[in-house]
Amino acid sequence: MMELQVILDFACRSCGESVSVTVKCEGKGLTPAARTVARVHVPCPGCGAVHCLDFEPNGTLRAVRPSVGSRPLLEPSIN
Ligand SMILES: [Zn+2]
Repeated sequence: MMELQVILDFACRSCGESVSVTVKCEGKGLTPAARTVARVHVPCPGCGAVHCLDFEPNGTLRAVRPSVGSRPLLEPSIN
């Protein structure tokens, strides 16, 4: 079983605080060369806003976006 520890750094989209999280992933097919994209939800320690992070096992952040949770969020509609 492959186990990886990935450190992700991102800036909070809500308050701008820089957040660093260590994510442990394990599973078959998890190699740094794999094009797998994993997803975690990380709450900001500063303001509590939850972010949805897409990352590759090699530590590359693919996307950071506010997580749409139970709280109703206003989203602009595309007209
Ligand atoms: Zn924040």
